[in-house]
Amino acid sequence: MYISTRDNHPPVTASGAIYLGMVPAGGLFVPETVPKVSPDQLRAWRELPYPALAAAILRLFLDDYTEDEIKACADAAYGSNFFHGDIAPLTWLDGLGGFLELWHGPTAAFKDMALQLTPRLLERAMVKVGGGKTLLILVATSGDTGKAALEGFKNVPGIKILCFYPDQGVSKAQELQMTTTDGENTFVVAVEGNFDDCQNGVKAIFGDEAFNQALAGQNIQMSSANSINWGRLCPQIVYYFHAYFQLLRAGRLTLGQPFHAVVPTGNFGNILSAWYAREMGLPIGKLICASNANRVLTDFFAEGIYDRRRDFYKTASPSMDILISSNLERFLFEISGHDAGTLIGCMRDLGEKGRFAAAKGWLERIRELLWAGSADDREAAGVIQEVFARHHYTLDTHTSVAAAVYGRYRRETGDDTPAVIDATASPFKFAGSVLAALGQETKGLDELGAVAALSLYSGQPIHPALAGLEKRPVRHRRRAAVSEMREIVAAVAAGTFPRPASS
Ligand SMILES: *Cc1c(COP(=O)(O)O)cnc(C)c1O
Repeated sequence: MYISTRDNHPPVTASGAIYLGMVPAGGLFVPETVPKVSPDQLRAWRELPYPALAAAILRLFLDDYTEDEIKACADAAYGSNFFHGDIAPLTWLDGLGGFLELWHGPTAAFKDMALQLTPRLLERAMVKVGGGKTLLILVATSGDTGKAALEGFKNVPGIKILCFYPDQGVSKAQELQMTTTDGENTFVVAVEGNFDDCQNGVKAIFGDEAFNQALAGQNIQMSSANSINWGRLCPQIVYYFHAYFQLLRAGRLTLGQPFHAVVPTGNFGNILSAWYAREMGLPIGKLICASNANRVLTDFFAEGIYDRRRDFYKTASPSMDILISSNLERFLFEISGHDAGTLIGCMRDLGEKGRFAAAKGWLERIRELLWAGSADDREAAGVIQEVFARHHYTLDTHTSVAAAVYGRYRRETGDDTPAVIDATASPFKFAGSVLAALGQETKGLDELGAVAALSLYSGQPIHPALAGLEKRPVRHRRRAAVSEMREIVAAVAAGTFPRPASS
């Protein structure tokens, strides 16, 4: 069963947690217990292809789904919609570590790893617990979740999807990917604010009981495709196992030897999935948490004070430009031994004062598991250049933050345990910044010109998700103030929001 981090909801089944997205009264669903995997089990899984491995792991968490349902969902999610047969291949670079390429999906960022699957789980959940309601998926996106969710949910019967992204807060390619989405049930709106404004707006709408009741009267239920939904986190556990088995096969580790997981972090969802994998028994040594200049997590793990009242920086890694990391709530609930009482106080302080302090003992426990650091744009750009010069391998602006922080970890600790570094986006998704980091002229190039130029310079073919973007018609042009978000949700629910121009 799944329980609330704030102890304010009766336990629900896996499909119930996925259907609701988050706890209606605030709080997030977490599994009551984490299933354990024995070394024998690990041995039995090591040769499985990705979809079969995904099914084996999902089965342990989603026990009100049948084996057939899970297998069908996993097979459909991880097939020819990915542009690489291995789904998430690991590229080893000597002296650095293994780059786990999580960007071979249809939208070129790691969000596809979950979002090709989550809609299928949600569709099943609607049948199990939905009672025939239409589902309205609300998404707040820092750029990558939006397109991945739109692709995953587009034209799924019984579902509408509405994405809010920060106007001027995403890359041009990210914006075009979203605003050119077709599908009868997709809605995209630029919000005059940053990602935190979008996410807070969405959370407030989820938490508004009167609004929820009004929608229920129209036979509509809201849910989430953000990593506040367990249906997003659970599929992400899989690729840590997959990475480990690739290290074993390549002879870089023997069974039982640990590896570190280095994760470029924003909403703390990806790294939390690594924590669940570790908790299940995967031999992950340290979780290395990498932030960009918005280093609210780095400071929290160093000093024990989470303080969002600080300058917000727009960086070259926009998908990590976040000051309120939603999944930290789950992590603190887990490492505190499910201490909902203390956590409620922390979350109240965060809401009211913009800050909270770690409770006694939390930091000590966290430091056994996790090492945190940050790298600004200059440092990350230096890593892009260095890795390209040495290995002819192109990192994107998020992956390079992780590689930079991992470099610092090694210098400071001297620890040379093998590491897996999550490569969370294709460099083509942030081509302008990547080209500039490589010392190439970008003046006069628009984002799509930069994509072509990067392909020429790096010798790497353009990711299919970014090819021909400039030729697709823009179908979503609505801009809105933060204060208008609720009206927009109501209009989409009621079917009165102007339909996107048809392509
Ligand atoms: C979303 C995203 C991240 C951050 O992941 P979280 O799960 O939010 O921590 C990092 N890199 C890229 C490219 C992303 O799209």
